[in-house]
Amino acid sequence: MATSAELIRVEHVIKEYNHGAVKALNDCSLSIKKGEVVAIIGPSGSGKSTLLRCLNLLEIPSSGHIYFNGVDITDKKVDINLHRRKMGMVFQHFNVFPHMTVGENITMAPVLLGKKKQNEAVEMAKELLNKVGLSSKYDEYPQRLSGGQKQRLAIVRALAMEPDVMLFDEPTSALDPEMVGEVLNVIKSLVKDGMTTVIVTHEMGFAREVSDRVFFMDDGILAEKGSPDEIFSHPQNPRTKEFLSKVLY
Ligand code: ADP
Repeated sequence: MATSAELIRVEHVIKEYNHGAVKALNDCSLSIKKGEVVAIIGPSGSGKSTLLRCLNLLEIPSSGHIYFNGVDITDKKVDINLHRRKMGMVFQHFNVFPHMTVGENITMAPVLLGKKKQNEAVEMAKELLNKVGLSSKYDEYPQRLSGGQKQRLAIVRALAMEPDVMLFDEPTSALDPEMVGEVLNVIKSLVKDGMTTVIVTHEMGFAREVSDRVFFMDDGILAEKGSPDEIFSHPQNPRTKEFLSKVLY
């Protein structure tokens, strides 16, 4: 069972595709505390994104349990939408609504779901945009934004739901190199404010700097978990060592 400081618990999760031909997750277990920052690293195809997507049931585990705030969200009787609202998700490819203005992108969900009145939502949206350096963009359409600005908007849109955790799936992978820093800085400021954060990333320097713990995934298995110093300076698993020798240079 989950303890009070624990926000997410994953127990023996297996995720198979193609009727078992692909085992994307092979008996993964982990626990994440409130306020913790976890970076998930590992080779391409090792199951990082599947693991992250299982946390809010964008992918349904083939077996195993996932607890969020102490509730078993893999229980079919649970209304997953209620819990998903407390988990902000940011994808590689922004996923902002192109036919809505920046302001509408941010205010739509909180108003529609009755979390905020329209005027409160507008006020909050402006505050959040100001925090991420987009205060002048409230009435713009996303097509007028750069990739980095779109991703900052995607982050703000997720934050507008006042989530308990932010899940980032390679948030800078689709960006031109000069825009990576501005997005990482926004994530850093969230972390500084105490937001529980799980991030799949190839930005090793960033993972090392901001995370409390690093999970190394290999072939569907959580092969090694540890502090950034343990994983990056003293990896124990030969697969971790091999991976890092390829990506750190
Ligand atoms: P990573 O994020 O580490 O690159 P993924 O979680 O995307 O890895 O994928 C893990 C494995 O699961 C890979 O072998 C991938 O091809 C497979 N996979 C992921 N999604 C699907 C899917 N929808 N259908 C079939 N196979 C999938």
